[in-house]
Amino acid sequence: MRVFLEFERNVVFISDRNIGLLHAVADVFPGASHSYCLVHLKKNLRTRLGGVAMDWKRYLVELFGKCAYAPTLELFNELLAELERESGNKMRDFLSDLDVKHWAHAYFPGHRYGELSSNLAECFNRWIKDERCLPVTQLVDAIRMKLMEQMSRRKEESLRWKTTVCSTWDKRLAGLFQFSRTWVVRKSSADVYDVRGNPSNTVNICQRRCTCREWQLNCFPCVHAVCAIRKSGRDLNDFVEPCYLVYSFRRLIRSRLNQSLQLINQILLLIPMTLSFLPCKGGQRVGQGPSAYHRFGKLLGKGYVLGAGPLRGAIKGLARNLFLVDS
Ligand SMILES: [Zn+2]
Repeated sequence: MRVFLEFERNVVFISDRNIGLLHAVADVFPGASHSYCLVHLKKNLRTRLGGVAMDWKRYLVELFGKCAYAPTLELFNELLAELERESGNKMRDFLSDLDVKHWAHAYFPGHRYGELSSNLAECFNRWIKDERCLPVTQLVDAIRMKLMEQMSRRKEESLRWKTTVCSTWDKRLAGLFQFSRTWVVRKSSADVYDVRGNPSNTVNICQRRCTCREWQLNCFPCVHAVCAIRKSGRDLNDFVEPCYLVYSFRRLIRSRLNQSLQLINQILLLIPMTLSFLPCKGGQRVGQGPSAYHRFGKLLGKGYVLGAGPLRGAIKGLARNLFLVDS
């Protein structure tokens, strides 16, 4: 994964706070932000509050969730003070083990696009639960087939979209636009607007910032931003991040679909090609060939490299793709 992400990217990891991951993420990706899954944190908190009355426990867990979602430092501190005031030593011990920069929206240094849990990974695991018992080559093949079919469906669906922004997010923009229609907006200076809502906020549309901090946190215009952009007369779509655009969606689907088709064709060649793997001493490469051969040999087990064979070129491509997938 580090090889795959060696170029400059702002990577965010969301994990269940497994002890191994705590050290590994910091060691391997020192510049990445590490978020603790809120669902797992709440589960841990319920366990820690054993013996507390059920209703009171539910209230404390909900309050903890509000702290996590609080977008501003002021609101976070206010809610945290209430949490500490209402709870006992068990809650204080729980919070003392957590650095706020790993779970609280207000302090988190990276961009989570509003995602505070690892539900996406859990959904994927549930999606492939019937295939998980298969041998590894069939498992990879089955996952690839499922992904290919899903992407094909999504590609067809996206072809019906006539908007610039993807369907779900375009509807959200329309909802925010409708909700803020009656709000009063005043231009404060170039690109800066005061939006009189409930409460009032200041928006800098050039810097894509709002004092409510929702725009910065979710990388998507908040209701105040939508209001200010409408007042400025500029196109709302110009202020939406590329990852929400139909163009980006189609491009991603197209590239992944092509990769899947290519890899599936190559995987079908895997079983006969395993006959061409020859054991060797000390993991040394036999004969001439690209380093991908050797790396794929290592993937299968130390001491094995590709032998000669008519389908060697196919394995070369498979080896490269597998490293992308494994990354
Ligand atoms: Zn706002």
